[in-house]
Amino acid sequence: MSKLGLHYQVFPEWAKKIAVPWAKMIDPGGAVSPLPQSRVIGRLWVDYDNAINAAYIARGAAGAEAYFQRCLSGYRNAPWIHCWEGANEPVPLYDASFALSCAAFLARWVDLMHAEGLKTAVGSFGVGWPGDGQAPLFREALIRSDYLAVHEYAAPTMRDGSGFWTLRYRKLIAELKAAKIRIPPILITECGIDGGVLQQSGKGYKDFGLNEEQYQKELAWYDTEISKDGEVLCATPFTCGPKKDWLSFEVTEKIANWVVQQHIIVVPPVPPPVFTLKLFKPVPPGSRFTQGWGENPAYYGQSGLPGHNGLDWGVPEGTTVTAAHDGVFYVGAQFAEAYGTYCWVYGKGFRTLYGHGSKLLAKEGQPVLAGQPIMLSGNTGHSTGPHLHLGLQIDELVTPGYGKWDDPTKFMVSDTAPLVTPLHDLAVALRWTIEESVREMKNMTPPAQIAPRLLELVDAEKGIAYRLERALEGK
Ligand SMILES: [Zn+2]
Repeated sequence: MSKLGLHYQVFPEWAKKIAVPWAKMIDPGGAVSPLPQSRVIGRLWVDYDNAINAAYIARGAAGAEAYFQRCLSGYRNAPWIHCWEGANEPVPLYDASFALSCAAFLARWVDLMHAEGLKTAVGSFGVGWPGDGQAPLFREALIRSDYLAVHEYAAPTMRDGSGFWTLRYRKLIAELKAAKIRIPPILITECGIDGGVLQQSGKGYKDFGLNEEQYQKELAWYDTEISKDGEVLCATPFTCGPKKDWLSFEVTEKIANWVVQQHIIVVPPVPPPVFTLKLFKPVPPGSRFTQGWGENPAYYGQSGLPGHNGLDWGVPEGTTVTAAHDGVFYVGAQFAEAYGTYCWVYGKGFRTLYGHGSKLLAKEGQPVLAGQPIMLSGNTGHSTGPHLHLGLQIDELVTPGYGKWDDPTKFMVSDTAPLVTPLHDLAVALRWTIEESVREMKNMTPPAQIAPRLLELVDAEKGIAYRLERALEGK
């Protein structure tokens, strides 16, 4: 979302067709806004000279009263203005007593504006100001103003002097945050390329040999940067409709139209959700794969299936079976006739089944991690020899002929569980196991019952401890 707006010194005829969220106008007037779709920041060009502003500012609060009275008819002449900038680019802020006067001036001006029912963009600080450590001086004005206004230029490009000339507002934000002073929303009410920062005679982008496209690239860079900072609401590059001294800064109709284009957001089409899943081999490396998905249709036809509804590994009875993914362990019951002693591991939106076991190693509802021992294999249920059967169900998927069963082959990504499981998951699993141990042992009579149970628990925790060690090694 672009934050670029437009700045008008003299309002050109072509600008009436253009709408951006934020605009700024010098010496605006008239009963009706020429930009009804924009929030317009106004600035009165008091006597066309910053030295005049400085004279008001040097007088502090009293100067603010005089300045306000000087401007009041101008404010009332454009009632549609959203907020007003005050005295332009206070200089010389390096003079400590002037800086204090400026702080008093701004605070009083904000109060006078608010009493008149007008919103304020306080500051209008020039390039490089306030100086290091000065921002907290303006506390009183900042905690009351509607906005903070800053001007940012650099040369020969906007990127040059980044952090000092342009993007300097980040220093202000840091200083104000450190001092715990409220940061009003920031309006960058002037910006662009200005040789004045180098004390060079060259001024606007044209004087540095940039064409409109090259200048647009600078503005695009700046837009990207200020969009990273939520405190900044807009930046209005100086200026559309320049008077004769500022022709080299001209934001032309072409550039203005490009700015408008930046606000037209292209929403990319949302891709359909893709089900992603990683399943790790649930038996030790080197185990013999004996039957794939869909094999032996004649045999499985007797059970109404088009073929084998999972994957088999021929492993000796008592082989450690490990979870193929992170999830929650459940004891199997519904398919006991087919799978004998079996269990489930539930993931989010899917679950895996481990069949034909001899002993379950985890407890109902226990969080388990990929690679954690959950069962010893066996030869129970409908089985023609010792093996492990792995089944997979995916909530959003029905495989024709297989119902909820789906082919795990598509998701088997590796022989081994991942090296690093997030430590948080490991901690959750470990805590559950320990809490469960304490619950159970409270009801046991020592020592005959506890000793074998302790050995079982050590077994269950071994998998977690193993993975914890590997996770720590991986760091
Ligand atoms: Zn099988």
